[in-house]
Amino acid sequence: MDKDWAEKNKRMQSLLGKKDTFHEAISLLIELRMDVFNQITQIMNGYPEDAFSLMPFAGDEGYHSKTLSYSIWHIFRIEDIVAHEMIAEDEQILFRNGYIEKIHTPIITTGNELAGDEISDFSKQLDRWQLYRYAKDVLESTNKLLLSLEYKDLKKKFGDDFKEKLIASKCVSEDKEAAWLIEYWCNKDVKGLLKMPFSRHHIMHVEAMRRIKNKLCKDARKGVDPIAYCGFSCNHCFLSEWCGSCRTVYNTCSFAKCSPEGICPNASCCKEKGYDGCYECDDIEKCEKGFYASGNDGANAAKAQALYIKKHGKKEFLRVQDRLHKKYNFSKTQEILGQNIEEGLKILEET
Ligand code: SF4
Ligand code: SF4
Repeated sequence: MDKDWAEKNKRMQSLLGKKDTFHEAISLLIELRMDVFNQITQIMNGYPEDAFSLMPFAGDEGYHSKTLSYSIWHIFRIEDIVAHEMIAEDEQILFRNGYIEKIHTPIITTGNELAGDEISDFSKQLDRWQLYRYAKDVLESTNKLLLSLEYKDLKKKFGDDFKEKLIASKCVSEDKEAAWLIEYWCNKDVKGLLKMPFSRHHIMHVEAMRRIKNKLCKDARKGVDPIAYCGFSCNHCFLSEWCGSCRTVYNTCSFAKCSPEGICPNASCCKEKGYDGCYECDDIEKCEKGFYASGNDGANAAKAQALYIKKHGKKEFLRVQDRLHKKYNFSKTQEILGQNIEEGLKILEET
């Protein structure tokens, strides 16, 4: 489990047990939920539409065997049902604001009953940005509910009337893969629900989403030139779990993300000029475009690397990078190479 999230979760659980620290526990729980949701936002903003219905671990056991869209749907359907049918006893967010139509969902259940291709077929039908809005609405509404709770509310239990209500809502499938959820939730008090559907369940599924996107990025880079247009090596880049290379649609380099249509200025300039990369350009030393902007910390290191490729070729460059990264991590390597362009080039040539 992510170290920071695991620590916050553990601390939240211990604070939740005492009346004096109850409100501190709720603040920490909300902070943790926001941290985890930020990761969902980054994934939403990072990848192309298709990525959200792909199952790179299809056939495996575990949360990572699903799709990105399914994971978001499942996390927030469970939270919506538990928060509104059980704790607040009011209307679920899914049934407000026309979300069913907006998301284009064919189901209102948690999705536990779906298997194999059904999961990717379901994911393809969803409007993922409406799904994201729904998830955000559920998150915010639950956070408000959490802030309204008092310590004494933690002991609230859920009897047969709640079981019947949940069955009648048809929000949990009768399939054996899903039906157990009602018994599972109703065997917990509010405190137990805060510890699972509202926190740990998020963490487990979002960590699975990380694994899915890491694999999608890795798959996107397969067979693709590992040298970025600016002269960086994707094989050695600290962003390699997040970025599938500027030569694919899985590019999450910050320069690409801040640029129109998500295309890095160096990549689009190279394409316009018919260059394989900036290392083919005679204007590189004075160029100020994109990654080479003088205010950018990485500009000198990128230029030094591109100039090395210009002189010695990509194969030799990758060998030098392997040797350098045995001694230093990515940021130290970039720091060393980035002191000034000539010095950076010299270091690469002497490595
Ligand atoms: S940020 Fe740049 S160097 Fe890093 S993986 Fe993406 S394209 Fe490659
Ligand atoms: S002008 Fe700059 S961005 Fe364009 S190809 Fe040359 S070095 Fe790259």
